[in-house]
Amino acid sequence: MTTHAVKPLSPEPRYRAYTTRHLEELTTRAGLSADERLAVQAVAQVLPFRANSYVVDELIDWAAAPDDPMYRLLFPQPDMLPAEDVARIADLLRAGASAQALNAVVQPLRARLNPHPAGQMDLNVPRLANAEPLPGLQHKYAETVLFFPQQGQTCHAYCTYCFRWAQFVGDADLKFASRDIASLVDYVRSHEEVTNVLLTGGDPMVMNERVLARYIEPLLDIEHLEAIRIGTKSLAWWPQRFVSDPDADDTLRLFERVVAAGKNLALMAHFSHPNELASPMVLEAVRRIRATGAVIRTQAPLIRGINDDAATWERMWRTHLRHGMVPYYMFVERDTGPRDYFAVPLARAVDIFRSAYQRVSGLGRTVRGPSMSATPGKVCVDGVADIGGEKVFVLHFIQARNPEWVGRPFFAKYDEQATWLFDLRPALGADAFPWETASTSGAHNDLPVD
Ligand SMILES: *Cc1c(COP(=O)(O)O)cnc(C)c1O
Repeated sequence: MTTHAVKPLSPEPRYRAYTTRHLEELTTRAGLSADERLAVQAVAQVLPFRANSYVVDELIDWAAAPDDPMYRLLFPQPDMLPAEDVARIADLLRAGASAQALNAVVQPLRARLNPHPAGQMDLNVPRLANAEPLPGLQHKYAETVLFFPQQGQTCHAYCTYCFRWAQFVGDADLKFASRDIASLVDYVRSHEEVTNVLLTGGDPMVMNERVLARYIEPLLDIEHLEAIRIGTKSLAWWPQRFVSDPDADDTLRLFERVVAAGKNLALMAHFSHPNELASPMVLEAVRRIRATGAVIRTQAPLIRGINDDAATWERMWRTHLRHGMVPYYMFVERDTGPRDYFAVPLARAVDIFRSAYQRVSGLGRTVRGPSMSATPGKVCVDGVADIGGEKVFVLHFIQARNPEWVGRPFFAKYDEQATWLFDLRPALGADAFPWETASTSGAHNDLPVD
């Protein structure tokens, strides 16, 4: 295949991670004062930090740091947590406190940051026919099963706003994953309604081709399975994965086998900002992936201080389209981690979405949003309307625990400050939302999962 005839752009260095040990050096490079650097170190005791040689050398504009959006996307900010908490940890660091003393402050702080918005720790996981539970598998919407491979529970770099941040801070109890491939396959095989498997994480593309193939290949002969999706940030954080890594070509051949088996292979690429598309390496990765017959669909949350303006989204979607990628979702940031720091009110979110959407051609209007992935389902804010003198949000379910709710408009009182579904109140005389009144008997299972 022509895909593999193309040589890597240049001999590339192997992946090299930057962790909290490198923070002092990197924040100095960003021009932070000693106090600011210490505050960043304090925040990094609570929230995870990981960068790598590619994002540091190719993506971040160091002349613009610390305001550069790529820098903000990767580096903890001094004011991401309440000032008194940051000061307390900074004092401990300054005094050379023990790991135990630090932990005593850090752990309760993490617990206050809603570490499990997806309900992964307390959900009743799906069970096999023999009643064995299947950790690492989530089946909320009839047609799609999520699988969290155990070897894919990290990323090539961490986004500061990550809603799965808790699994990266090294607390084994917070992890939710499985390496039980046979059970996954059995589960999908015995559930004919499942047409999609979505490998997620972390980032499944941190797995090498041999491990990835162990998860993917057994799925290929399940007749009713139509699509395999891979949720990944690797195109932005380590495009070498598809171009110059030792197993890059093998990975593309694996993708070709999925397509040859008659399945849709979709890379659900997480792109947060148009600057992530600025390197030749990422464009080459996109070209090579598309040449396998895989489709790249793009999604990201709307994040204050990083991508909260329409021009940024317009530029991002248009760049995706130009390179053959398909815009898929704009998400609302979830209620976890340094949430207040990043949250964009729904009223602003819908304005930003509309302004950007108005300026892309129909090819880009495949994108949906702003969408909240919440307990009852994926709720899209369609807009603001005046109905009979009452100002309301118009919303609909894109996905729902109960398929009956999907695609039906519903209304909430307009609230300029609201940032999440639970801030909203029913409007136009209704006293409850669909999921608060309707029985969930239409749901394909009774699991209290997010
Ligand atoms: C978003 C999501 C899916 C996939 O939904 P699509 O609308 O088909 O992209 C599946 N399961 C869960 C839990 C999700 O949040």
